[in-house]
Amino acid sequence: MPIHSQCAIIVVAAGRGLRAGGDVPKQYAALCGRPVIAHTIEALHTGVPDARIVCVIHPDDAALFATASSFLSPKATAKLDAPVQGRATRQQSVRAGLEYIARHWSEPPSAVLIHDAARPFVSKALLARALDAALESGAAVPGLAVTDTLKQVDDKGHVVVTPERASLRAVQTPQAFGFDLILAAHRAADMDNLTDDAAIAEKAGHQVLVFEGEGTNMKITLADDLAKAENHMLATLQDIRTGQGYDVHAFGPGDGVWLGGVKIPHTHALVGHSDADVLLHAITDAILGALADGDIGAHFPPSDPQWRGAASSVFLADAMARVRAKGGMVAHLDATLICEMPKIGPHRDTIRTSIAQITGLELDRIAIKATTSEQLGFTGRREGMAAMAIATVRLP
Ligand code: MG
Repeated sequence: MPIHSQCAIIVVAAGRGLRAGGDVPKQYAALCGRPVIAHTIEALHTGVPDARIVCVIHPDDAALFATASSFLSPKATAKLDAPVQGRATRQQSVRAGLEYIARHWSEPPSAVLIHDAARPFVSKALLARALDAALESGAAVPGLAVTDTLKQVDDKGHVVVTPERASLRAVQTPQAFGFDLILAAHRAADMDNLTDDAAIAEKAGHQVLVFEGEGTNMKITLADDLAKAENHMLATLQDIRTGQGYDVHAFGPGDGVWLGGVKIPHTHALVGHSDADVLLHAITDAILGALADGDIGAHFPPSDPQWRGAASSVFLADAMARVRAKGGMVAHLDATLICEMPKIGPHRDTIRTSIAQITGLELDRIAIKATTSEQLGFTGRREGMAAMAIATVRLP
């Protein structure tokens, strides 16, 4: 049996990580429109598709984690266990993840990778090296040769010793172990407070192998790092596309219109097979256009009874998932509603907030405008509404 099918991955996400600034821990901060931890889990799943993934989170972060999970592909979601509650220190949190696996999995894995939630750029090649190294040595960590000279100093800042640089390595994650080996080492190190799992294996008397890490496998710790990570990711999204969408629905009897997922009181409703949200339909088509992936009618045929009366947020969420499945992001959405009534201005920000919730995009990537057609044509005669949208999508 290949080791991949017997592999667990523990994602350590219990830290408060507020050194990066912002109002949420760094692992939940947005990186190109998706939480950092969602990028990390997706990258881990892509690299080791058969592995089950266990995230250890802070007890206060359940809602943040649930939101982040909603950004994952169905395949990655299928490999994700329910999150485990972390403890006060990193060591205790990893231990909690290991004990959860030991207790709840019907068969313990042979190998476990332990990875920082704030390292979203872990590559397939690095994961493969980690698994090979775990198989070979039982305990292995990725490391990079250091280019700066390091000094050990005393509490007054005076140099005590200058270690020889050639023998030093800066250590990253994923750290890779035989499952039984690292579980026993953690249990033996119960009262210690060690900062990485290699140290725990060393303390238990195991020889730890250092294999080649990756310079791009950066850890997001400081505010600066988030900007660096965003630049690094944008540099990989150079296929920049524009899609347009257009939609019309007629007015019929009713007491309000659905626009951008918000019901706005009106003397009429819009008539359609779904909820007739003309704005979300135009935006959805714009995104599908940028992907060259058909249109809303192709993916959700009006002939299919399951979409009768459907909330159009389903269509937009599906288009967003198609962008993420390609490893891309929506950089911007811009839409114009064309109608005499109802007045859109008073509802503009409610609509933008609603679209932000459906798409997971920041508000400043969503523009909603409105105009009349000076009483000309079908919109001018108040027979219906039209909407136009443009989506800017970046793909790898
Ligand atoms: Mg429509």
